Amino acid sequence: MAAEYRGGDFSVKASEPLAGMMQCPLAVDESARQTGRAEAHSQMSIVVQKFGGSSVAGVEKIRKVARKVKEKRDAGHQLVVVVSAMGDTTDELLALAKQVSPDPPRRELDMLLTCGERISMALLSMALHELGVAAISFTGSQSGIITNDAHAQARIVEVRPYRIQDELAGGKVVIVAGYQGVSYKREVTTLGRGGSDTTAVALAAALQADCEIYSDVDGVYSADPRVVPDARKLEEISYDEMQELASAGAKVLNAQAVEFAKQKGIVILARSTFGGGTGTAIRELAPAGDARVKGVASEADLAVISAKGGAGALPEVLEFLDARGVRGRTLSFEARTGEAFAAAPLQDVHGLEALKRDLQARFGDRVRVEDGLGTVTAVGAGINGDWSLARRALAAAEEAGATVHGLHVSALQLTLLVGREHLKPLTVRLHRELLG
Ligand code: ADP
Ligand code: ASP
Ligand code: MG
Repeated sequence: MAAEYRGGDFSVKASEPLAGMMQCPLAVDESARQTGRAEAHSQMSIVVQKFGGSSVAGVEKIRKVARKVKEKRDAGHQLVVVVSAMGDTTDELLALAKQVSPDPPRRELDMLLTCGERISMALLSMALHELGVAAISFTGSQSGIITNDAHAQARIVEVRPYRIQDELAGGKVVIVAGYQGVSYKREVTTLGRGGSDTTAVALAAALQADCEIYSDVDGVYSADPRVVPDARKLEEISYDEMQELASAGAKVLNAQAVEFAKQKGIVILARSTFGGGTGTAIRELAPAGDARVKGVASEADLAVISAKGGAGALPEVLEFLDARGVRGRTLSFEARTGEAFAAAPLQDVHGLEALKRDLQARFGDRVRVEDGLGTVTAVGAGINGDWSLARRALAAAEEAGATVHGLHVSALQLTLLVGREHLKPLTVRLHRELLG
């Protein structure tokens, strides 16, 4: 496979099986043998470090990150560094796009948004050069991150990191632009908001490396510490619980990144870039035995789509939503009323007004979209063991004066659907009630 890459850009044939992602540990050896440079480095462990937007928000911070990377390299590791766009660059680019078009073509959006990470990668590489550290930056495409063709929320299907391996073998630090890949149609894609975490985990799996994710918090807390001052830092958390928290809006880690880490058995260490601390390990953990709530998260950016017409009408509506890239977090159907409800996070659905308009044109009053709602979710394995936690959550909502528009309980989580204005107070109250 490595030979396929030599001679220029790698090529991916549509007919090739894209059997799962990250198939390349074997290629590490082959690539190393071919370059003949790897022996000196063969004893060194590879570490993938990811620095998020706030960690590279300005030139001084980029310099600090470069010093941190150098320290790790000087301690005898091979380094792959994944970076996000500087500060709020992605939001700013999105706002720019929406000035031009309220519902921009997703392909063009991806072309635009991937620029953010390219800026960071080049600047960090330059900062390392200034410190005398040999470094090279790669886009997602150059790094061999192959995705499906779902623009704006693509999934990684394979990683072919041959260029990265060659450069590591040659003694360089490799900087990778997060959040992006290339589809088998050779189109540039993005992985959904917060997707640099996914880049880091995918590369760690492909390179059999350790994975460290750095941000402005010193680990995963029992709630967003900006919202709940009493939130406690967790020393460790299971993949399943972290995935639930992330899907429920805890943006400290990306849900897909955690899913991939679980699939590949990669332990993620979430740590602070500029502070100290031991961080949080996200790993496989044996169930505690008793139902214990691990954390609370909230999601404001949500639409509730309701559809009338019975189960028979549902596939057509779901097909429409799939074609528009509207992914559901939950879907329920009530046979008695013939109504279905889907809760869909909107952060990767660009063009909400156009979506509403098109739904109206196609389905008329049979389909309704409500977007003034949000969810507060408590996460913990066995949360549905009995109804005591659900009862306490409902009581907390009542005390917070929040009307509960919906309740969903499963083995790992309990979610309350409430008006957006109640999200913060209810998050604080639920945390106090279930974790206080
Ligand atoms: P980065 O830009 O480094 O990827 P993010 O802004 O995406 O960082 O994620 C870090 C932020 O996640 C924190 O500043 C914090 O406010 C928020 N956050 C939400 N839920 C949690 C949680 N349970 N634990 C820690 N941080 C959380
Ligand atoms: N820059 C992208 C975002 O803001 C990806 C990331 O930060 O992980 O969502
Ligand atoms: Mg993030």
